[in-house]
Amino acid sequence: MSKRKKFYALFLSFAAALTLTFTGCGASKGGNSSSLASLSNAISSASSSAAKERSSSVNSGASSSSETQASSSSSKAGQTTSSAAASSSRTTSASSSKGTSQKTADIVVDPVKMYTTAAVNFREGPDTSYGVIKKLESGTEVTKNAENGSWSRVEYDGKKGYISSDYLSDKKKEKTDYSTGQAVSGTTFVKKAPSDCLIAIDAGHQGKANSEKEPDGPGSSTMKAKVATGTSGAASGLAEYQLTLQVSLKLQKELESRGYKVLMIRTTHDVNISNAERAKIANDAGADAFLRIHANGSDDPSVHGCITACQTASNPYNANLYNACHTLAQDILDCFCAATGAKKQYIWEVDNMSGINWCKVPVTIIELGFMTNPEEDLKMATDDYQYAMVKGIADGVDAFFGN
Ligand SMILES: [Zn+2]
Repeated sequence: MSKRKKFYALFLSFAAALTLTFTGCGASKGGNSSSLASLSNAISSASSSAAKERSSSVNSGASSSSETQASSSSSKAGQTTSSAAASSSRTTSASSSKGTSQKTADIVVDPVKMYTTAAVNFREGPDTSYGVIKKLESGTEVTKNAENGSWSRVEYDGKKGYISSDYLSDKKKEKTDYSTGQAVSGTTFVKKAPSDCLIAIDAGHQGKANSEKEPDGPGSSTMKAKVATGTSGAASGLAEYQLTLQVSLKLQKELESRGYKVLMIRTTHDVNISNAERAKIANDAGADAFLRIHANGSDDPSVHGCITACQTASNPYNANLYNACHTLAQDILDCFCAATGAKKQYIWEVDNMSGINWCKVPVTIIELGFMTNPEEDLKMATDDYQYAMVKGIADGVDAFFGN
């Protein structure tokens, strides 16, 4: 048994044992694919955005990501192995299983409608060494009826085949009408080139908090402080507003280098801009995505990891943006954790954030990590880790716009 096959078998036994534990979370937070993906991340911390099973057309268009291609042997076909089965060092040699029977049995699941989250290969077997039946467009509806490791057995157009579970979701990506920022229901997500995208970045907080109050949403009678103090580093001594600006300035450069237009809400600490005003600036500029950079704090110093946030599906102000925001939050969380190795916490759905409630454009809060965890705090204060975080966030933006 090759190293890779051993790993794969090991993964399967984990997956079989843990599938039940994970399905609850997956079902409500974007599908089994993400729960399997998080499982694979947990097992293979080396897994990265290199490990993708997109079709060659997508890979070739994603050359801005330095990790899109894992090796020359696999990149010829524009394919890398799935993230669950392989880290970037375990690319397929395309030599083993083609033409032989499957090494592992499918685990049958109740048939469920799923959608491809990117252009992806529909294959004859659960491995990149199997032939491609057809390349499916992003947003294609398939029926999943079994799992095999990190792969899903699906039916499409009367044919049975396999798709990497990383590229399936139980939610269809929403298309956003970029002139109004409103998500259009029931349509598939449409790719948007970086040069057509304006990304607004808000470095959370500011030098001096502002305890004056403002409504936490348009027309709301609930009042909240305009800008809270934020947390601070248990070991580094950094204030949250300092960390968020350091990261935001690096993120600006990274996104601009990938071709995006960027709007910075603040570039110094000496500002006084309320959370509602920050959202309005992003709205007025017609931002295609609004990234609110924050860091977390907890009474429990052992808590660490990344959380992204969006509104709930029943938010009274902008529930119409829920699908777009949740997708953005998911894409960034996944890519952030792949790039940094940070613990993947969860997507926090919350309706009392002024900076979200006032938004008319897709928004997510990125809680980079916990400044109350000394180890994570010190890591986040370093340039190296800040560049890793920024790469992960930018990869998530690429994923969201199909780049
Ligand atoms: Zn904050």
